[in-house]
Amino acid sequence: MLLKSRREEPVPIPVGCDRDHPQITQITHQKRVGTSEVFDRRTSKYSHQAKVPSTKDKARSTMTEWETIIGLEIHAQLSTESKIFCGCSTRFGDEPNANTCPVCLGLPGALPVLNKRAVELGARAALALGLQINNCSIFARKNYFYPDLPKGYQISQYDQPFSANGELEIMTAERDQAGHPVQWRSKKIRITRLHLEEDAGKNVHEGLPDVDRFSYIDLNRAGTPLAEIVTEPEFRSSWEAYDYVNHVRRTLQWVGASEADMEKGNLRCEANVSVRRKGDQTFGTKVELKNLNSVRFMQRAIEYEITRQVGVLESGGRLVQETRLWDDRAMETRTMRSKEEAHDYRYFPEPDLPPLIVSDQFIEHVRSSLPELPEARRKRFMDQYGLSFADASQLTAERALADYYERAAEASGNPKAAANWIRSELLRELETAGISADASPVKPENLAALVRLIDEGKISGKQGKEVLVDMFGTGDSPTAIIKKRGLVQLSDTGEIDRLIDEVIAGNQAQLAQYRSGKEALFGFFVGQVLKASKGKANPKIVNDRLREKLRG
Ligand SMILES: [Zn+2]
Repeated sequence: MLLKSRREEPVPIPVGCDRDHPQITQITHQKRVGTSEVFDRRTSKYSHQAKVPSTKDKARSTMTEWETIIGLEIHAQLSTESKIFCGCSTRFGDEPNANTCPVCLGLPGALPVLNKRAVELGARAALALGLQINNCSIFARKNYFYPDLPKGYQISQYDQPFSANGELEIMTAERDQAGHPVQWRSKKIRITRLHLEEDAGKNVHEGLPDVDRFSYIDLNRAGTPLAEIVTEPEFRSSWEAYDYVNHVRRTLQWVGASEADMEKGNLRCEANVSVRRKGDQTFGTKVELKNLNSVRFMQRAIEYEITRQVGVLESGGRLVQETRLWDDRAMETRTMRSKEEAHDYRYFPEPDLPPLIVSDQFIEHVRSSLPELPEARRKRFMDQYGLSFADASQLTAERALADYYERAAEASGNPKAAANWIRSELLRELETAGISADASPVKPENLAALVRLIDEGKISGKQGKEVLVDMFGTGDSPTAIIKKRGLVQLSDTGEIDRLIDEVIAGNQAQLAQYRSGKEALFGFFVGQVLKASKGKANPKIVNDRLREKLRG
């Protein structure tokens, strides 16, 4: 059942609201978007604002004189089965308001009880991201009004957060025009804090009757546990921010703390962006970007915002501290509201919850239960298996894939070949089928067996590709498929010699050219012999025999 309330004329967003509310804000600003006006809650008036720069302005501006400062906030939904302060299910997609109770509806007298699993998953996230967990942290009320927040406050943490003082090493690179990384380098990112809090519900404004007159509220999400992860203003480009968010996403998934899927909304991201002239010590006016529904959109929004801010400042304008929404259709940011300060929320310690005390023993227990983290594993793959940075990075993109690779590498006795087969052939099949490595019909042991058969010269690499596709479809072992298809690599020198003689006899002109010094034709002859063998001839033997025969 959806709760329904009559909607009045659109009003500006109320004081103190600090979350994504795209539907609401779209409605609120229907009349305002495009007029370059901003609402100032202190004076309750709209004021004019500098225009967004055109592409021409962008070309004229001297971007190299400016420095960009970016800080990021990530909200990650922790993968608990029940909510953070009550026993309601966190299942996604259930009937609206089915998963609610007096606690998450904020009914008078209902008392919250902290979910231990949320604390464990928060600890996994914090330790994996290099933060220090505080033995004592305090839940605090963040007061504001919004229809999807029935209590009138959110239980969050303020001056004594769950964890703080993190340092995380990430790999980052600028990208060229085509979007390819230019040069990977490592960068240390200071993470200010990771704290625990509850999510709000959702306003629904689409696909329901009378949506022009009514707002609908679904409180299934209210009380879902979140980890809010805040960085220092560490990033100097949109790509650094992009690489960081991907790093955090992968790490949270890796340790099982969050599904961290931006499309499902269980990872949300906000960016604080400002610019200043190079050499300036003070920060410029910062703008908060919201509604960033993918990492790529976040990168584009930041890029757009840098250009806009530089354009405003270079044309003598002044920036307003505000929140802007990214519109991914128009590919631009738009004013949402002026930004409130922390003191607007009237934070105070949550009287219904005791301080959260975690022992060193608990922290060590969680730490020792963490798997080897992606960065460490990438480095180990490079050292232990001789993989390149690009290969090792791709194979540690997901934990299931890294596990798969490691089993195949060990069993094949040829870790580099195993890496190549996974990257070039298997991943393509997995992607087409839309499944992850742990569900692959080709078991790592069978992929390793295939690599060995090729190394031993039993089948050619070309035949190997055919076998892999068959393995993917049937789940059979490579030996069974080779037998079934009658695939045997031709290694009989007598038979290969016969094919070579035929090819030479049929290409006398090329033979004469080759013998008069045009050595590049060697490849032509190899190709002809392999073709004559229908791809079955062992390339190494063909090479050796051809060289001898062509010499005459
Ligand atoms: Zn509940």
